[in-house]
Amino acid sequence: MKIVGGAWSNWSGGVTCKPRHVVAPKDEVELAAAVRTAEGVVRVPGTGHSFTPLNATDGTLIDLGAFTGLKGMDVAREIATFGAATPLWEIGTLLHPLGFGLINMGDIDRQTLGGVVGTATHGTGPTLGSFSASVTGFQILLASGEVLHCSRDDHPEIFDAGRVSMGMLGVMTEISLHVRPQYKLEEKGFFLPPDELFAKLDTLKAENRHFEFFWFPYADRAICKTLNETLQDAPPPRSAEAMFARGEAGARAPDMMLFTAINEILPYAPFLLRPAHRMFSQFMPAPPRVRWSHEAFPSPRNVRFNEMEYAVPAEKGADCVREIVEFIRKNRINTGFPLEFRTVAADDAWLSPFYQRPSVTIALHQYRRVDTGKLFKPVEDIFRRYEGRPHWGKRHTRTAGELAQIYPVYERFRQLRAKLDPQGKFLNRYLKSLFG
Ligand SMILES: Cc1cc2nc3c(=O)[nH]c(=O)nc-3n(C[C@H](O)[C@H](O)[C@H](O)COP(=O)(O)OP(=O)(O)OC[C@H]3O[C@@H](n4cnc5c(N)ncnc54)[C@H](O)[C@@H]3O)c2cc1C
Repeated sequence: MKIVGGAWSNWSGGVTCKPRHVVAPKDEVELAAAVRTAEGVVRVPGTGHSFTPLNATDGTLIDLGAFTGLKGMDVAREIATFGAATPLWEIGTLLHPLGFGLINMGDIDRQTLGGVVGTATHGTGPTLGSFSASVTGFQILLASGEVLHCSRDDHPEIFDAGRVSMGMLGVMTEISLHVRPQYKLEEKGFFLPPDELFAKLDTLKAENRHFEFFWFPYADRAICKTLNETLQDAPPPRSAEAMFARGEAGARAPDMMLFTAINEILPYAPFLLRPAHRMFSQFMPAPPRVRWSHEAFPSPRNVRFNEMEYAVPAEKGADCVREIVEFIRKNRINTGFPLEFRTVAADDAWLSPFYQRPSVTIALHQYRRVDTGKLFKPVEDIFRRYEGRPHWGKRHTRTAGELAQIYPVYERFRQLRAKLDPQGKFLNRYLKSLFG
């Protein structure tokens, strides 16, 4: 965990805090002692890739850096167990030599397993759930100091609530999840004008294991990306060191430098919006290529931004994204980023945005130096009308009262949380306002 001048910051720089203590326990015994004796609110960040103040505390931050690595592999049941702070890029390199791979991944591989499970981080694919949906069990240290193993059979309530719980129920030390035999993915990119895209959307979703599109709202075509399983040859996977370094790759690529430069200028030069969006929409995500799954899913994201993302019922996704684009155009909203449209299967984790609902996710981004209010606030009203549920790691302004309406098991979660942590040891001000 990086602390600079006593301060912790999230990836975008939009959330900072000055904890009184930062502790780095070496094992579960030290972790239990750290939680028991902690001053103030205890938070356990992953790599801080959330845009919401989930990790903000002036009390104690726990660095779980020692809780990494592969802890067990049940080959017959295709279940792997990892230390909860294992970064995703490392999971890929640990599973591959064993002949396995993750079922799905999102846009990047910099987060920790505990972090992605904490917020139901997802990729795309209508038959594929979020990271939380693939969890089969976890070990958790509660505020009481008790350590529980939770699964569908052991403490099933805590299992259902804990799979998406933003660190409110306790500290996960190990997480087990379904994996699958290793596989290669062929990536293809292509452009479609919006009318054609929406006419073909159901087919594109159904015929590709992973389909998503990016739409710069002032451009007249969307950038589409598919990933499909293939038996074609792929280059050998990179080493763990290379995967680690990959996070920084691309920052100096000419298109990324241009993208950054234009995003710096756009707020002062709104007349550039349309030409800039048209130009950005010439960039293909990548040339067609085949790679092992853990290398194919993530891409470098080096231009820092803030993000809002909502999950809406799958059948309403197309109307919702069209309405958002219309709104942005009509109101000349200034943004240098595209909308991102993905699909996620329904699951049964209580606080999952995909709880009992096949979904489409729609994400909006604003360059880190740009005020998000003009874009995020009115678009959130659109999401509201489409029964949207916010991504827990991304910006939203929903209140406790609203969450109770849109999450059918919200109240049950609240009560279980209060039972497990009556003193609110893990509840910072932000989470207290939503779940206290
Ligand atoms: C560039 C970028 C790209 C992204 N791409 C995607 C994407 O494709 N799909 C998507 O859905 N999201 C995406 N996100 C959001 C991101 O995946 C989530 O916010 C995720 O939760 C971040 O993981 P993290 O390891 O950084 O955890 P943090 O943000 O540090 O923490 C997230 C939550 O997890 C909890 N937590 C972490 N470890 C533990 C533990 N051991 N025990 C209990 N609780 C724990 C924390 O307390 C916190 O509440 C992206 C974010 C960025 C910045």
